[in-house]
Amino acid sequence: MTVTTRFAPSPTGYLHVGGARTALFSWLYARKHGGQFILRIEDTDLERSTKESVQAIFDGMDWLGLNYDTEPTFQTQNFPRYKEIIAKLLETGHAYYCDCSKEELEILREQQMAAKEKPRYNGKCRDANKPQNEKTVVRFKTPIDGEITIPDLVKGNITVANKELDDLVIARADGSPTYNLTVVVDDMDMKITHVIRGDDHINNTPRQINILKALNAPLPEYAHLPMILGSDGARLSKRHGAVSVMQFRDEGYLPQALLNYLVRLGWSHGDQEIFSIAEMIEFFDLNDVNGAASTFNMEKLLWLNHHYLMHSEPADIVSHLVWHLGVIGIDANVDKSVDLVELIKAQRERCKTLVEMANASRYFYQEFETYDEKAAKKAFSEGSDNVLLELKNAFAALDLWEKEALHDVVKNTAEKLALGLGKVAQPLRVAVCGSGVSPSINITLALLGREKTVARLQRAISYIQAV
Ligand code: GLU
Repeated sequence: MTVTTRFAPSPTGYLHVGGARTALFSWLYARKHGGQFILRIEDTDLERSTKESVQAIFDGMDWLGLNYDTEPTFQTQNFPRYKEIIAKLLETGHAYYCDCSKEELEILREQQMAAKEKPRYNGKCRDANKPQNEKTVVRFKTPIDGEITIPDLVKGNITVANKELDDLVIARADGSPTYNLTVVVDDMDMKITHVIRGDDHINNTPRQINILKALNAPLPEYAHLPMILGSDGARLSKRHGAVSVMQFRDEGYLPQALLNYLVRLGWSHGDQEIFSIAEMIEFFDLNDVNGAASTFNMEKLLWLNHHYLMHSEPADIVSHLVWHLGVIGIDANVDKSVDLVELIKAQRERCKTLVEMANASRYFYQEFETYDEKAAKKAFSEGSDNVLLELKNAFAALDLWEKEALHDVVKNTAEKLALGLGKVAQPLRVAVCGSGVSPSINITLALLGREKTVARLQRAISYIQAV
């Protein structure tokens, strides 16, 4: 049997990291077994589902590289099939019409709460053979006796007595199917072999199993993934910082770093921390997923991001950096004056995110408005216009614009003027970068090119002379 997994998000918000981890684990499991991975959009909640959220899911999956094997499906396009199954359950005596009113159910609920009982439907219409009308819902006839054991691949066996479950509504009065029904029908029709999802769905699983049994459908295996917590032990949410996948992109993380971070949230393989995608696929197993909740650690993600910036092939980072340069108004696809691979090599030591890298690279593309005040005060002292003039002339006359020759110019100028190297390099740095921080000066100049270097030296000379 082909291993088939699915990621089944409800498009009611951004794709958050919890969802992304569920998607990743489902994707890895399918890939590991040479199986199928399906993306199913559970958009039946018409009030809360939005087109933007659907797009956010597509964008997030795409950015993370979690590809799916069939066109994504939408539950709203599958209503005839759900209706067919509801009719079948009615026909075979596994479901019934119920006309209990909201008020009636509310009173029942209050009574049960007062008696410290679990609120549940009392089965009033179960054997009443109620006819359908515009107010009736359809309820599933949960078996009265027996129990359901979920052999959960993460949590171990979970047993629930049927008497704990009530007769759940599977179709609303307007005929629309409810969540538990649509999931069951799709999991059955898509021949899902492994249902991998958040453990907030554990309560639904016995109900879904009962419906699958009523339909004589094979049961999938289940793996319920533990929650992700914020640093304070509460469920991870916006107030802990970024939680949407695309926000991590916006904040300058590499998808590979986020994937590596997510795979380690609740899963481990010895004490290995860094996993290539191929290694994740090779080593991943649901049995190794920890049943306890894990805590999201932004520091560690940042560390991983820096690791990936440092150790990835620079060529693989280029498109991501170009995207971030675009955000700050630099179109590096048009302005090709800077060698991006060399730029990444020069900047990655000091930059933990691509946002930092893009910002720290701005002056290679754009003229800066003003000098950093402190740096200029320190570096541009009396006589430094002369130093910069010497440099400017030497750079203008230089044959080959490459880092060894550039280094020699700085060194020779220092010797000629009997100055320490720093007394030459620092005014030069502030003159070309606008601030006192940059990669080593010869690499900075090599990236910047002759034209900008010479023009900026002239600008600094005029600036110093005007003060
Ligand atoms: N649509 C559900 C959700 O977004 C997931 C359903 C499932 O995985 O079975 O939480």
